[in-house]
Amino acid sequence: MATKRDYYEVLGVQKGASDDEIKKAYRKLSKKYHPDINKAPDAEEKFKELSEAYEILSDPQKRAAYDQYGHAGTNPNYGGAGGGFGGFGNGGFSSAGFGGFEDIFESFFGGGGGGRSANPNAPRQGADLQYIIDLTFEEAVFGVEKEIKYKREEVCHTCGGNGAKPGTHPETCHKCHGSGTINVERQTPLGRVMSRQTCDVCHGTGKEIAHPCETCHGTGSEKQTHKVKVNVPAGVEDDQQMRLANQGEAGTNGGPYGDLYVVFRVAPSDIFDRNGSEIYYEMPLNFVQAALGDEVLVPTVHGEIKLKIPAGTQTGAKFRLRGKGAPKLRGNGTGDQQVTVKIITPKNLNEEQKEALRSFAKASGLSTSEQQPEGFFDKVKDAFGGKKK
Ligand SMILES: [Zn+2]
Ligand SMILES: [Zn+2]
Repeated sequence: MATKRDYYEVLGVQKGASDDEIKKAYRKLSKKYHPDINKAPDAEEKFKELSEAYEILSDPQKRAAYDQYGHAGTNPNYGGAGGGFGGFGNGGFSSAGFGGFEDIFESFFGGGGGGRSANPNAPRQGADLQYIIDLTFEEAVFGVEKEIKYKREEVCHTCGGNGAKPGTHPETCHKCHGSGTINVERQTPLGRVMSRQTCDVCHGTGKEIAHPCETCHGTGSEKQTHKVKVNVPAGVEDDQQMRLANQGEAGTNGGPYGDLYVVFRVAPSDIFDRNGSEIYYEMPLNFVQAALGDEVLVPTVHGEIKLKIPAGTQTGAKFRLRGKGAPKLRGNGTGDQQVTVKIITPKNLNEEQKEALRSFAKASGLSTSEQQPEGFFDKVKDAFGGKKK
């Protein structure tokens, strides 16, 4: 390895240069030396040197170490590893350097087409998937364990994901040198224009596979039926979702699996309504129970509960059954069940019943239509409503 040049000299700035000056110098020079643009044999080497210098000088800590100790103060990995861009792909470079490089490229070519994938060989997480789970009202309240099955791309079991036949290896693409993109010159009325396109040899992967794996045909992944046990927590609601890490599709270049988003669809109940941890129940009472009072059994998701109905209960009266609602999803405790009374007026009375009611009306001093009422509504109010004393 040749003696390393001073980083400030590489970037052509003074030792005390500001961050801005360093950035500007880097942008300018990396345009000039980017190997996709500059076809000079030493361009790639220059570009590497430049990136390395920028990597150090743009980081205040690394720059301080470099100012104090020179090259010995910086990570020794940056100097040695050769072999194209891959050589320093895993250092700090990928974050600082490639970000900057992409940035420059975009501005240089006016944000031309092609994906934003700066490094096609970088590990990338697989796609996320979504799965809808149907739950009954009770399953949502109490939680349930469900096993779900779906198809997803999994890392190919034959090649382990690299797409090459066992015993062979993918090679760096000869056309794009692993970058996944190529620059194309076009003749337009305004002159020659450079544009960036996905490499037509490797289709953007940066790799060429001479002997593709027979299982996955070089893609590195294969569709498989995947089973997951989902612990649906007690208290979930319609439309809520849950993330299951790494249950999505296989990543590329050894990247992690994507995630699975499980969405809950909760069926309505014939009996109850629900909002969060509160459960609502409309309780029918006949008017005798309501007038005389009673003890009734009220359904709840936790089983039937005895409830005392006081005499003179009106339609719309509310009772709260503490702790008889749904569990609270986050935090502890359980909501309540609200009971709303609905008085049912009897229909299709037989003669005996009618007579009883007429007697009741008479005893209450109530008028009925048979008697042409006077102040009828006031009297009804007195009889059924709370009597004013
Ligand atoms: Zn394979
Ligand atoms: Zn290529």
